[in-house]
Amino acid sequence: MLISLVVPCYNEEQALPILYEALTKVRAEVTDKDFEFIFVNDGSRDKTSAVMKDLASQDKDVKYLIFSRNFGKEAAMYAGLEKAKGDYIAILDADMQDPPSLIPQMIRDLDSGEWDIVAARRVTRKGEPKIRSFFARRFYRLINGMCDVEIADGARDFRLMRRPVVDAILSVSERQRFSKGIFAWVGFRTKWVEHENVERSAGETKWSFWSLFRYAIDGIVSFTTAPLRMSIYLGIGFACLGFAYLLYYVIRAIILQIYNTVPGYPSLLSFILFIGGLILMCLGIIGEYIGKIYIESKRRPIYIASEESEDKD
Ligand code: UDP
Ligand code: MG
Repeated sequence: MLISLVVPCYNEEQALPILYEALTKVRAEVTDKDFEFIFVNDGSRDKTSAVMKDLASQDKDVKYLIFSRNFGKEAAMYAGLEKAKGDYIAILDADMQDPPSLIPQMIRDLDSGEWDIVAARRVTRKGEPKIRSFFARRFYRLINGMCDVEIADGARDFRLMRRPVVDAILSVSERQRFSKGIFAWVGFRTKWVEHENVERSAGETKWSFWSLFRYAIDGIVSFTTAPLRMSIYLGIGFACLGFAYLLYYVIRAIILQIYNTVPGYPSLLSFILFIGGLILMCLGIIGEYIGKIYIESKRRPIYIASEESEDKD
């Protein structure tokens, strides 16, 4: 039985040797299975490619795929899953934040036949900036409130899956991939293993606050059309308010005979500004969806590889 470990790497020249070391320990521990390590270089600007090729030349289980530029972790994971031939396939980060020491237990869990996926979840966010944890929590609340599928808070991309699960994930061939959502969407019996947050072994994170913010918006837009519906409700709500306001003035004029025409500029102006802002916001929401449709309609490949390790078998 073959086990594929897929690792997306972006500027990980320092972290990769540490990870490789840990993976060889896993391989030595699980003696009854064959392994392949698939390193995907997502257009790194450092010597990650050289490190990969070096490892591949020493170890026949190491395979690599080099992208022509940086396509993002989502694309790197997709490429790795596509290349993987294993019966069980795992995805893990290059920086040891997904502890490889959990893998042997995960393999045993799949062997038991009770589960199709064993996925890791962080129970703490220790070592992460407070503000980032706060917004991450809000994000999970928001997206779970809007989506049909449950996206677990603290769930990482770190997971070991059976072949049919990976085939299902690959069959979701959309270009703008939000893997956390896709993993949840394909379903299957998932076992969660919990671990503490681990800090990066070397190098630094590629996520800034704003790139995470964009990622959150992309996630929501990719997985639910609830914001569109929300803008309808907002529109109806404000139309009703406007109508009530009109009614109030008409009744006042007819019954109380008050025709004050001069005052009311500030309230009028603030209403116009507020509603104008609201219209722009709703247009923006629609724009996000149209943008997604536009990109999907081009049907471009998810990644372009410039180099690949040779297939030895
Ligand atoms: N990564 C990637 N492409 C990117 C950014 C990140 O393949 O454009 C990889 C990176 O090398 C690492 C994993 O994705 O293996 C997670 O990245 P990182 O550790 O920077 O994210 P964090 O753990 O801070 O969320
Ligand atoms: Mg990391």
